[in-house]
Amino acid sequence: MTSSFSNLSLAEPLARAVADMGYESMTPIQEQAIPVVLQGKDVMGAAQTGTGKTAAFTLPLLQRMLQHENASTSPARHPVRALVLLPTRELAVQVAEQVKLYAKYTNLRSMVVFGGMDMKPQTLELKKGVEVLVATPGRLLDHIEAKNTVLNQVEYVVLDEADRMLDIGFLPDLQRILSYLPKQRITLLFSATFSPEIKRLASSYLQDPVTIEVARSNAAASTVEQHFYSVSPDDKRRALHQILRQRGMKQAFVFVNSKLGCARLARSLEREGLKTTALHGDKSQDERLKALEAFKSGEVDLLVCTDVAARGLDIKDVPAVFNFDVPFNAEDYIHRIGRTGRAGAEGLAVSFVASSDNRLVVDIEKLLNTRIELEPIEFDEDGPRIKEQGRINDGRRMYREGEGADGGERLAAHAPRERREPRERREYTPQRQPAKSRDPFFDQPYEPSTAVQAQPAWEAAAKSGPVRSGVSANIKSKKRVAALFQTSH
Ligand code: AMP
Repeated sequence: MTSSFSNLSLAEPLARAVADMGYESMTPIQEQAIPVVLQGKDVMGAAQTGTGKTAAFTLPLLQRMLQHENASTSPARHPVRALVLLPTRELAVQVAEQVKLYAKYTNLRSMVVFGGMDMKPQTLELKKGVEVLVATPGRLLDHIEAKNTVLNQVEYVVLDEADRMLDIGFLPDLQRILSYLPKQRITLLFSATFSPEIKRLASSYLQDPVTIEVARSNAAASTVEQHFYSVSPDDKRRALHQILRQRGMKQAFVFVNSKLGCARLARSLEREGLKTTALHGDKSQDERLKALEAFKSGEVDLLVCTDVAARGLDIKDVPAVFNFDVPFNAEDYIHRIGRTGRAGAEGLAVSFVASSDNRLVVDIEKLLNTRIELEPIEFDEDGPRIKEQGRINDGRRMYREGEGADGGERLAAHAPRERREPRERREYTPQRQPAKSRDPFFDQPYEPSTAVQAQPAWEAAAKSGPVRSGVSANIKSKKRVAALFQTSH
C-alpha cells in the first residue's frame, strides 16, 4: 500500500515543493525511509536510482535542517550541514537538481561540486556558504585541502550509490572525507546491493542502522519488453539498424562494455546516418553534459554509452535500450534496462548475444530467475547495406514508422512486432573486427552480490522454473519479467 506525502506532516515549504512535483503518493523507499530519517536514525537502504530515493533522503534531511534556516547573507550562518556523496558527475548533478527543487521554498542553500571543471566558480559559491553540499569524492577532497569548505558542522551524510563508489575505488577518499566529519551525525547509505564490502563500510560508519530494502527496480519497468537476439559481433550494427527501422523507434540508449568500443560504435553509427553521441568516462565533463543535453533535447537520437557513464541517469521516455554488448555484470543488465519503460511507458530492451556471451546470459537468467530464449534475427534483404556501403543511403536521421532508410514506404509492411516469414539468409562477408579493448572497470571479474535477504521479493514472485546451468532452448520469446519489478511492500 502506498501512502500520501500528507501523512508525513512535512513543513509547508517542503509540502508545497512536493505538490509542485505532482507526486501522487510515496514510493516504497520513501514510505519506509522518510519516517526513519525524520526520527534521526541511520539508514542502510538497498535501492537504486529510479525508486525515488533522492526524495527519500532529501525531504527528511531538509525538514530536520529547517531549524537552522535563515536569510542572513553571512557565510558563517550557512555552514555545510548535509553532505551527499555520489560516484559520478552526472549523478551528482541530477541529485543536486532534485535537492534544489525540494528546497526551493526554503532559505536552505544547496550546490554541487564535481571534478573535470574549473574549481574557481565552485570555490566562490562554496565560500558564500551552503547547507547542502552534493559532491563527488575526489573534487570534495580538493576543496577540503584548499580550505574552501569545512565540514565540522555536518549533521547528515548520504553515501549514495555506495556500491559503485567502492567499485570505482573511492573507498580511501570516502574514508578521508568521513574522518573530517563530526562523529555525532546521521549517516545514510544507499546501495544497489549489500555486498560484504558495503556491509563492512556500514559497520564502520553507521550506528545501529535501520535496513530498508525495496525491490530492485521500479514498477514502471514491468512494461519493458525484453528480447535476446543471437547475433554475431559482425552483424550487430546491422541488427541495430533493422530493429530501429522495423519498430519506427525515435530514440534509444545503446550500451557497450568499453570506452573504446563506445567511441568506435558511435562514430560508425554516425557515419551510417544515425544522429549519435557517445557518453563514456574518458569524455570531458563538458562533453558529457553536452551529450546528455543533446539527447534530452532530441538533437541526437542514439546515446551510445558505457555503464559507468550512464548509471542512474534519469532521462524520461527512452523508448528502447540496446545491449550492444551483454554486460559483464548481470546486475548492470537491470540498471541498463531500467533506463526504459519509466513512468509506466512501454519500453523495449534488446540484447545482442554473441556465442561467447552465453555465460553472461546465464548470469542474467539467474539474477532474473527467468528463462531467456535466444531469438534468431532475420535480416531483411531490403534493409540498409551496412557492410557493403558503409553508410545508409541518404539518411542522417532515425527511421520513422513506415519509412525505410531510403525514405521509401516499404516498411509499412513490417509493423512493430509483426513476425515475418523466414527468408533465405543473405550471404554476408564479416568485416575484420578491431582488437578488443576494455575499461579497467569491466576487467574486474563478476562477483555476485550477497543480498541481505536470502530471497528477494521478486524472486519469490517469479513464476519460472528452477535456475539452470545453460541457456534454454525453449523459452518464450517475449517473456516479460513483471514479477521481477514488483515492489516488495
Ligand atoms: P530517483 O530514484 O530519486 O532518481 O527518482 C527517480 C524519478 O522519480 C525522479 O524523476 C523523481 O522526480 C521521481 N519521483 C520521486 N518520487 C516520486 C513519487 N513519489 N512519485 C512519482 N515520481 C517520483
